[in-house]
Amino acid sequence: MITKNIALARDVLVQDGIVAIPTETVYGLAGNAYSETAVKQIFGLKKRPFFNPLILHIKSMECLHSVAREIPEAAFKLASSFWPGALTLVLKKQAHISDLVTSGMDTVAVRVPNHPVAMKLLEQLDFPLAAPSANPFGSISPTTAQHVHHYFEETLSIVLDGGACEKGIESTIIGFENDEPVLYRHGAVSIEEIEMVIGKIKIFTEKADKPNAPGMLSRHYAPNTETHLVTNISESIHSFSDKKIGLLLFKEKNSDSQDCLFQEVLSTTGDFDEAARNVYAALHRLDLSDVDVILVEKLPDIGIGKSINDRLKRAVNKE
Ligand code: AMP
Ligand code: MG
Repeated sequence: MITKNIALARDVLVQDGIVAIPTETVYGLAGNAYSETAVKQIFGLKKRPFFNPLILHIKSMECLHSVAREIPEAAFKLASSFWPGALTLVLKKQAHISDLVTSGMDTVAVRVPNHPVAMKLLEQLDFPLAAPSANPFGSISPTTAQHVHHYFEETLSIVLDGGACEKGIESTIIGFENDEPVLYRHGAVSIEEIEMVIGKIKIFTEKADKPNAPGMLSRHYAPNTETHLVTNISESIHSFSDKKIGLLLFKEKNSDSQDCLFQEVLSTTGDFDEAARNVYAALHRLDLSDVDVILVEKLPDIGIGKSINDRLKRAVNKE
C-alpha cells in the first residue's frame, strides 16, 4: 500500500515490521536497526547478500554517540557541514550494533537524512532505522513511491510516499583510515564540496577481489535490458542498427536517430543536480519500454557528473 500516513508507518516499525521510506537520496527499505527480526527481513526482501552492510539513519547528530565511538574530528566537521544530508560516515561501531547490520565489521555506516517525512518518522522512534535502497539487490534504485511499489507489490505492506527524491542518487560515503578520511563511494555530495570542508581526500580504489569493500560491487543499479555506456552516441547507434534502441542522454536529443523512438534527456540546461534527480527514473522508463538495447551517454566527469557516471558504469557492467 502506498500511503502518506506516518503514524501507520511508525506502528509497523515498532512491531519489527518493514516500511519503505522516502529520503532525499533514494527510497529506503527501513526497519528497526536494533531488531534482529527487522534487519533479517530487510536482507530477505531485497535478496541482499549478508556481506553487504546497511546504513543506519539517525534523527540528529546528537544521536551519533549511541551508534559510533572514537569519532575523528574530521567526522564531526563533515557531519556539522552536511547533516542532515546525503553524506554517510563510516565510523567505529558501538558494541551493541549487530554484526548483521555491519556484515561483521567493526564499523557502522550512519547518516541523518534530509527529508521532511523521514525526519518526522525518526522523531517518533527511539531507535535508528537501518535502510538500504528499496530495490531488489542489484537493480535500479527507486526515486518514487511507485518505483518501490512496482518492485515489492507482493511482499511489502507499506510504502510511505514522500514524492520524488530531491537528490535522486545515493549518499556519498566517507570512512576513516588512521583518522584520515577516505571516500568510499561517490554520491549526492560532490568531492569538490567535501574538499572545501576538510581539504584533499583520498579516494578508495575498488578491488574486484574484495566485493565487500565499501566501494561496492562492480555491477549494481542495473536495468534488465542490455545497456551500454558510450561517449559518442551517433557512432554507437550504427553498431546496433538491427535493434530497437533507447537513448539516455545528458542535455539534448539525438537528431541522427529517427529510429530511436525512446529518448530520455536528463537536463536540457546541462544541470548535474537535475540530471541526478532524473537518472534512475529515466532508466526505469527505458527498462520498462520495449527497446532491445539502451545506450547511455557518459556525462562530463566533474562534480555530481562523476557520481552519476559511477552509477552508470555499474549499471552497464556485465561482470
Ligand atoms: P545502500 O544502502 O544500498 O546504498 O548500500 C549501503 C552501502 O553502504 C553498502 O553497500 C556499503 O558499501 C556501505 N556501507 C555500509 N556499512 C558500511 C561499513 N561498515 N563499512 C563500509 N561501508 C559500509
Ligand atoms: Mg542500493
